[in-house]
Amino acid sequence: MPSASTQRPAPSLPGYQHLYSGKVRDLYSPLDDAGRPREDQLLLVASDRISAYDFVLDSEIPGKGAVLTQLSLWWFEQLADLVPNHVLSTDVPAEVAGRAVLVRRLEMVPVECVARAYLTGGGLSEYQQTGSVCGVPLPSGLVDGSRLPEPVFTPTTKAPLGQHDQPMTFAEVQQEVGGPLAERVRELTVRILQRGNEIAADRGILLADTKVEFGMDRAAGGDVPGLVLADEVLTPDSSRFWPAAEWEPGHPQASYDKQYVRDWLTSAASGWDRSSGEAPPPLPEDVVARTREKYVEAYQALTGQRFES
Ligand code: ATP
Ligand code: MG
Repeated sequence: MPSASTQRPAPSLPGYQHLYSGKVRDLYSPLDDAGRPREDQLLLVASDRISAYDFVLDSEIPGKGAVLTQLSLWWFEQLADLVPNHVLSTDVPAEVAGRAVLVRRLEMVPVECVARAYLTGGGLSEYQQTGSVCGVPLPSGLVDGSRLPEPVFTPTTKAPLGQHDQPMTFAEVQQEVGGPLAERVRELTVRILQRGNEIAADRGILLADTKVEFGMDRAAGGDVPGLVLADEVLTPDSSRFWPAAEWEPGHPQASYDKQYVRDWLTSAASGWDRSSGEAPPPLPEDVVARTREKYVEAYQALTGQRFES
């Protein structure tokens, strides 16, 4: 996966050992009293980094990590009656306050659980070629942005860093994780997106699709014993947010949050050629400010709470 040349190293946090950095988040293991990394917990730190067209940009969006962390925490609560979640505590080091969560470290289910309520992106391309998505046949005549009769489960592989996730059929998921677990994650993924859309509908936002991740915790309850919702949930980084008022099937929809970034990067003003394979230039201040505003706006519209900081 290409990344911008000047990406900063993950900050060191006393009492924690850095494990891994994704495009946007940094993972740490808390140290126990003897100074050894704990194997049952993780600190998930959301940075202000933003990615577009598969590049991590040189510019950060101030507050983005906090907005997405707070939004995930809010959604975990809205979904708590559907599925237990991995959150243990928001009592985290001051340097990362507001944008980090201490979570139960789980054995992750090796599938990216995607559900789609509207058709676009990779799902649309697959539909145009085959009439179905991940083996699920869809009605004819659907266009970019069409609302599906009901949300469909369109899982993908979890590709290693630098590779693209590949669509999986349900039969492949069954083979990978076993029948009962496959059925449970399909049902939960669809219900999470449905619940999300019921709540977001009143607040002017459509959740076109989303990706969730589950893990297993032997100590937890639930009907597939130990199945827990992990990672982040229903954020603009894991889902497509569309402004409901502008929804119009037949063409690509305005993305809620990254539209300014994408528009500027592909405009003449950036001087960047997407096909060059080179890292994009830093964003101008007004693009950064307007992008930040969109993230804050989504958070405030959904939660009804003011975003402070
Ligand atoms: P990308 O930058 O493309 O998102 P990534 O998924 O590797 O790559 P992150 O999303 O930042 O990067 O990393 C989060 C990682 O933590 C994922 O691999 C996810 O599966 C894992 N994870 C999330 N929650 C838990 C948990 N409770 N226990 C164990 N692993 C978890
Ligand atoms: Mg991820």
